[in-house]
Parts: sequence; C-alpha cells; structure tokens
Amino acid sequence: MDARNDQVEERALEQRRGETVTAAPVEAPPRNGGSEAPARERRKRPRISETPPAPPPPPRLDDYEPIIGKPQLDELRYLAHPLRSKTVKMVNSTSMGGGVAEMLNRLIPLLSELEVVTRWDVITGGNDFFEVTKAFHNALHGGEYVLTKEARDIFLSYNEQNRQRMQFTEDLFVIHDPQPAGLIRSRERNRGKWMWRCHIDLSNPHPDVWGFLRPLIEEYDATVFSSPAFSRQLMVPQYLFYPCIDPLSEKNKELDAGYIQKVCDDFGIDRSRPIVTQISRFDRLKDPVGVIQAYKLAKKYVDCQLVLAGGGATDDPEGAIVLQEVMDAAGEDPDVIILNLPPWSALEINALQRASTIVVQKSLKEGFGLTVTEALWKGKPTIAGAVGGIPTQVIHKLTGVLVHSVEGCAYQIRYLLTHPEFAEQMGKNGREHVKENFLMTSNVKRWLLLFQILLGTVTKEKTT
Ligand code: UDP
Repeated sequence: MDARNDQVEERALEQRRGETVTAAPVEAPPRNGGSEAPARERRKRPRISETPPAPPPPPRLDDYEPIIGKPQLDELRYLAHPLRSKTVKMVNSTSMGGGVAEMLNRLIPLLSELEVVTRWDVITGGNDFFEVTKAFHNALHGGEYVLTKEARDIFLSYNEQNRQRMQFTEDLFVIHDPQPAGLIRSRERNRGKWMWRCHIDLSNPHPDVWGFLRPLIEEYDATVFSSPAFSRQLMVPQYLFYPCIDPLSEKNKELDAGYIQKVCDDFGIDRSRPIVTQISRFDRLKDPVGVIQAYKLAKKYVDCQLVLAGGGATDDPEGAIVLQEVMDAAGEDPDVIILNLPPWSALEINALQRASTIVVQKSLKEGFGLTVTEALWKGKPTIAGAVGGIPTQVIHKLTGVLVHSVEGCAYQIRYLLTHPEFAEQMGKNGREHVKENFLMTSNVKRWLLLFQILLGTVTKEKTT
C-alpha cells in the first residue's frame, strides 16, 4: 500500500475511534509458517477447565525474603505487633475478575499471617444493581449519565439488603469502591473505624453521581486513593496507597519455559514471530478495538501477532457486547488471537505476558492499571495509555512508553519491535520500578500503618 493510501486509512481509523465498530471481516494475507487455522476457530477451542481449580496455598511471609530481603519482612512484623488482637473486615463487590479481587486475594492471607485477623465479604446484588453500579463507574470516570431516582433507589436498597445480611462486629472496616459504599450506615457511634478504599479515578466525576455518593463517603473515618490526582476534596482524611501485585501469585510467579510454550501452543500463538498482547476485561474503557486498529497500522511495516486476552468480571454486564465488537473489528485475521478466559486463568495470563514481545494497555480511562504493573514486573517493554495510574508506573521512555492515540500506539509497536535493545532496557527499568514501589509487601505495610493511625497506636507524623 502506498503512503497516500496509508494516510487515508489512518484518517479513517482516527475518525472511527470511539465509535462502535462494525467493520466487515478483514481478509488476512496467507502467511508462511503461521497457523493455518482461522482466528475464530482457534478462539473457540476449550483449553482451560470450566470450573475453578482449587487455589494453591497462599505464600508465607518468609517466601518473600528472596525478593525483598529480611529487614523489610522484620519491619512488617514489627508494625503488625500492636494490631495482633484486632479484627478487620474488607468488603467489595466481586470475588473474581478485576484488579481489586486480585489484590484482596493476596493481601488478606498476609494480614492474617501477621495475626491481624482479616475477613473478606462480597456484597450480592441482582443484574439491576450491577447495571446501576457499572453506569455509576462509567459516570464517575467522566461519562455522560442521567441519574434517575430509580437508579438511586436500586443502589440504596441493595446496599441496605447487604447491610441487613452482614454483621459488623470487627474493629476496622475497609469498604472498596462505590458499590458497597452504603454499608457505612451500619457504623455504630464510637465503635470501629471505617475506611473507604477508592480504586478508581475521581478527578472528573459526573456531578450528579458524585453528589449522590459524597455524603456517604464523608461518613467514613478515612479514605484511601491510588493517586493524589484521583481524589476529591473531602471533609475526611485522605491517604495515598499505590495498588500492588504479588510477585508470588500464580499471575506473577516465575514460570518454566516448557509451560509458557505449552500455553502458546494451546492457543495457536507462534513464538517464532513477535507477539503483542493486551490483557484486559472486554471493556470499552480498555479500548480493545483501538488496539486492533493500532496493530493493523503497525502490521503494514512489521510482522507481529496480536493477542487480546480477557474475560468479564462478575460485576460487568457489558463484557459480552464488547467482546462481540472486538471479534467484529478483528474480522478473520488469523494473527489476531482473541481469548475469552475464565477468571481462574492466572497461570495462562502469566504465561501469555511472559511470552509477549510487547505488552500494550491502551486504556482510555483507568484506575491504577494492574495489568501494566504485571507486565513491568515481567520485564516487558510496555506501551500504555497515559491515563489514570498508568503514568505513575510508566515513566515515558524510561520504564515504558505512553501513548495518546491509535496512531501513537501503532508507531510505538513498530518502534519497539525494530529497536529491541531499547525495548529490553525499558523492560529492565520497569521491573526495578515495580520492585521499589508496587509489590504486595509495600501495600501490607501501608495498611498496617493506617490501621495504627486510626486506632491511635502511632502518631500521624510517622506515616505519610
Ligand atoms: N485479568 C484477569 N483475567 C482477564 C483480564 C484481566 O485475570 O481476563 C486480571 C489482570 O491480570 C489484572 C486485573 O485482572 O490483574 C485487572 O486489573 P486492572 O487494574 O488492570 O484493571 P480492572 O479490570 O481492575 O479495571
């Protein structure tokens, strides 16, 4: 294709960004050495068990010593000591899928090993509740929304039902994100301390939705945000906790080469050619269609395959619709491999990330972006949208590259695939950045300090 045609096509792609894409299937040219199977056929092959396997035993604190060192572990034990008789309840809205569940799965066993007995409860709700909370989520990220009385009633009545069903006898309560925020109404005067942990970016919320939630949030004793840029002015104290990953989890632990190869073979991924991967729920805010467009632009200049692997969180009813949009945008290109994975695919995701030449996270809005943390930890050259918590992790051209458009993403895919030494150095820098800032053990330390502040066992000055 000549340069003029490129420009025309790039402009057309730019115009289509943000629209629902219903493009006709794209015919991929036949390729020597590539898999013969059409993309859709490979997508359908059942590869992963249809029921969750028994979870592996959680790691013990001592298992982290080779990664963070003994002094850091001793510090955690020291900080936990005054909290040993205390109990904590954490509540969120899904036990599987999404970054919050991912973190709680590791945080809670570690706090418990430190004898800070922590219980994890998940609120329940009907489709109507999760449709409202999903709409709130999008509106809090700045989307258009008309807040109706019906939506407010649905939100409050499910919160009330959960409040009636649950018991609140612990010393400390950590309520994650807006969905269960109404549980604060169970707060008893002079009993227990309540924290609202907000994982999303509230910098530009829909005023009606935020106006509705804010009075609830201001009943908490403290709020925790993932970045100062995400927070709002509030009448209650705010703390900054970076989210984190667990280097020993199935998602992030080292894997042997044979297993990585097997996963690629199972999914029809050719490891002799470059692999560009985005791992994300099928959610428009993750811009999977934009990733396909960027891949198609880059593919005119460099050979590569695109892997889009994701699944739906149980609190996200839009996933199936977006998956269909992604399939339509991919057409019949056999080098686009779309994997709709069950939530218990941590090992497979780990292997896909490790097999990748480049990891992309082209989000349009983002919380912190744990998939970016995971990719950086694996030393992968990472291309990511400059939104939410991503710029905290991806320092442009040092620990990864930031992009703002389909064209920018395409350019960086092409650049990194043709400059492997630069890409490798960024990958190494990214891993160090995560080790310093975003591992689970740092998060445990922050919680212990906050619990101490709220219970009055340390002075505030020691903890910023
Ligand atoms: N994830 C997963 N399966 C999927 C898609 C994502 O296990 O099909 C994981 C991903 O590896 C990461 C988390 O879910 O650990 C997503 O967190 P992130 O902060 O990137 O985004 P969120 O989904 O919370 O918006």
